[in-house]
Amino acid sequence: MAQETSEPPNNAQAISQTISAFGIELDSLQAQQKKNERAYRLNVFFIPLLRLAGYTFLSISIILHNYYLLGESTFAGGLSFALVGFGYTALTWILLLLFFRRITRIHLGDFFLILEVAIFTYGVYCSGGEKSWLFLMAVARGTDQTATTVKRAAWFAVGSLCSYIALICYLDFIEHHQVHWGIEAAKIIFMIAFLFPIVGSARIAERVRASFHRTIHMAQDFTSHIGKQTAELEAARANLEKLYHREQEVTRTLSELNQMKTNFLIVTSHEMRTPLTVIKGYNEALLNQFFGSLSDTQKKSLEACQHVVDRLTMTVEDILEMLKINEGHLKLKVTDFDFADLLRQISSDMSLFLEKRRQCLDLQVPATLELRADREKIHLVMLNLIQNAIKFTPDEGTIQVTAARNGETVRIAVTDSGIGIEPAEIEKIFEKFYLNEDPLYHTSGKYQYLARGTGLGLSIAKSYVECHQGKIWAESVGKNQGSTFHVILPLRAQAEEDSANPPGR
Ligand code: ADP
Repeated sequence: MAQETSEPPNNAQAISQTISAFGIELDSLQAQQKKNERAYRLNVFFIPLLRLAGYTFLSISIILHNYYLLGESTFAGGLSFALVGFGYTALTWILLLLFFRRITRIHLGDFFLILEVAIFTYGVYCSGGEKSWLFLMAVARGTDQTATTVKRAAWFAVGSLCSYIALICYLDFIEHHQVHWGIEAAKIIFMIAFLFPIVGSARIAERVRASFHRTIHMAQDFTSHIGKQTAELEAARANLEKLYHREQEVTRTLSELNQMKTNFLIVTSHEMRTPLTVIKGYNEALLNQFFGSLSDTQKKSLEACQHVVDRLTMTVEDILEMLKINEGHLKLKVTDFDFADLLRQISSDMSLFLEKRRQCLDLQVPATLELRADREKIHLVMLNLIQNAIKFTPDEGTIQVTAARNGETVRIAVTDSGIGIEPAEIEKIFEKFYLNEDPLYHTSGKYQYLARGTGLGLSIAKSYVECHQGKIWAESVGKNQGSTFHVILPLRAQAEEDSANPPGR
């Protein structure tokens, strides 16, 4: 059964939800919808209800006012006001219910509020006009404008005052009451004093609201910005996931190819080794004239053949050794031997090649340098380094080999004045099958200038050195600046049956 999983909210949603919990909507569309709903409820239900309650109280207060202060025995003033007030409430309520949403050009709720100024003034008229103690009723409409805007509060204040002044004028000039204008001026000043703080409060409310709106807009911008960034991050994450899967596929394909390459090398090397041994055996037998005497030309041809077979055998041996290293089957046959002596022997073995290349090998080693290691492997390491130095140094160049004890280690350096190594290549040369040339123009040889082998020599040397818990690395200032190969070996290597951690894998 498919399980419904709900996505965890992102940052923008979380912030928006937290702010919404305080009744603030950051989504501008939803904020507008909520505002419209609130306005509808306020104008169509609450204000008419308040109006009804307000007129009821005002009617009662007019009745009491007229009875006790004006000494009227009828309730005519109060009832008249009640009739007008309730009539106004009923009419406006019906109109609001019918048209509040439909009429958008003017705000119907505000319009009826302004009209109410006249009703309130009528309340003053019903409570004795110029004699009314309830004259403040005329400006009562302005009192609930404290939380609106200055403009609106001022309009209500001016409207109320004008309405009151108009009433007094009407009473004086039309109904010919005896209006005392000095008292009326005092009343009007009192009303102004009463309305002034209301306009001031509206100003403060306006400022607070403006800064609140600014904050809300900032929060809206912020959430939309975060929303955008979250979407971008989401897209980047999806992209990364895709790349990760692609990389995994490529890695799988590469490891399959690698396995195929290894299988190919194993099969071909083994298939070549047996015939090579047979060819080498027969070649030696022929050279030793077991099958009859040979002419000089035959001898030379067989020697050339022997030379090529030797090289091919070495190459096959290199590949097999590398495969052994890969499989972690490297074994150290540790013995004590004189390392200085080993270097001297290699130097003498190379003397023929050095002579042919008119190169000078400067060997700086102590008289004896006892080492406990796999002699054959260390021999191959040093042979490879010195042979490389001969191959990659032009005729008449110099090669220097130094070896010295340093605490519990031996430090060896093979320096040549040859072609040098580019900085970008310095790590790569220790990789398997590394050839810094186009394989199509590959020239092989043991000592010829720029001759190359299989590209396995340094990789095998590195594995051998690391198997002894040693280190090997190359240094070169750059092209044609010569190079130095450094080796550090422990004085006493631990005998190890199978190397647990196959190097170079
Ligand atoms: P190869 O048996 O083909 O020489 P190596 O693993 O011994 O392979 O060397 C790998 C590569 O490292 C060489 O092809 C050469 O480009 C570079 N290299 C090795 N020794 C030197 C050196 N002394 N000077 C300059 N380049 C060298």
